[in-house]
Amino acid sequence: MYFLRFEVSPSMLGKFRIVGDWVVGTKISKAEILDWLRQEDDRYLQDLWQKADAIRRENVGDAVHLRGLIEISNHCVRQCQYCGLRVDHRGLARYRMTEAEIMECVRQAVDYGYGTVVLQSGEDYGIRTEWMASVVRRIKAETPLAVTLSLGERPDTDLIAWREAGADRYLLRFETSDLQLYEKIHPSLPGRWSDRIAILRRLAELGYEVGSGVMIGIPEQTYESLAHDIWLFEVLYLDMIGVGPYIPHPRTPLGQAAIKLGAPQDKQVPNSELMTYKVVALARLACPGANIPSTTALATLNREEGRELGLVRGANVVMPNLTPPQYRVSYEIYPAKACIFETAADCDACVKRRIISLGRTVGSGRGDSPNRSRRIKRAERKLEDLVEDTPCLPCQPQL
Ligand code: SAH
Repeated sequence: MYFLRFEVSPSMLGKFRIVGDWVVGTKISKAEILDWLRQEDDRYLQDLWQKADAIRRENVGDAVHLRGLIEISNHCVRQCQYCGLRVDHRGLARYRMTEAEIMECVRQAVDYGYGTVVLQSGEDYGIRTEWMASVVRRIKAETPLAVTLSLGERPDTDLIAWREAGADRYLLRFETSDLQLYEKIHPSLPGRWSDRIAILRRLAELGYEVGSGVMIGIPEQTYESLAHDIWLFEVLYLDMIGVGPYIPHPRTPLGQAAIKLGAPQDKQVPNSELMTYKVVALARLACPGANIPSTTALATLNREEGRELGLVRGANVVMPNLTPPQYRVSYEIYPAKACIFETAADCDACVKRRIISLGRTVGSGRGDSPNRSRRIKRAERKLEDLVEDTPCLPCQPQL
């Protein structure tokens, strides 16, 4: 059983206020998650990898779904202390793709047989609500593709307009559920509190498939808070979960250690490759039906086999990059990102070769998450129960 209704506000600092009728029964307890995160013995970890791989196979099968990533703009109004796109990174050449450029990439996605395009950007209000809606409408009218947006914390009116235009999914990582740490590394905009959990809840209400995730090994991130993050994946009943190691960017305050953050050494989560595999595997245990990518950040740490190891330890999605080469170098959220000197054709061939070498198949179709339809069915069942439980008019006490 999962949650039925919940409410979170920023002032609660990571604790949930429980409203109405909750039933929470997690698949894996926070204590178990914590034990795995601290586990260093390779013999035990083999068990975790095997369990995650088996649960992945049972729930989402052997197909690896490909999502073509188009990084449509690197403009950003935010001051995230970790990200190379932050507004104060003055040396970065900024770009915003035109509709024609985006459509060119979309056509490539169709030619390569992908089922989804992901349009990602910094939080860029130069991307106008109506313009984005018309691009989404055009993709939906001209192709069979699912459209995923990842455009930051946009106002409710934008999220509604884009959903009405046909957008299927939205990605917004909550980055860390430690709200004190979150506010230090991801300052709110003046007068607008950054409450990503509330936005994720809203996206689900609007009928999007909802994706979120965290960075692993942010300075001051403790094992306890990372265990809480993974537990939260299940509570939020996410459709998609993207996790990757934090990679310091030398042109950011966090990368330059200009802001001092840190937990005691025995509590600090390392931003290592091994820790990332553990989180991928635990995310699979917590959310068996979710779509989980083997991320570019993982491929950046281990170019030879990072993607493959992610795929055999719980992941079932890869996001080959379709961004035109002249823009890739400028979408520098962290340095030395994998694939920045490749073309879309290189990425396509490389990713498919890696999938086949594992004995897995390249997914066809949209690769929707089963979680969203289950979530809706559950809500409908709940509604029916409520209707059945409501006494009919004649039985109601007369006033
Ligand atoms: N503007 C969008 C997309 C941001 S980039 C948004 O805010 O959702 C996508 C993800 O890159 C971020 O959510 C963050 O988790 C990751 N990222 C940013 N800087 C990073 C860094 N230095 N190391 C690793 N991941 C980083």
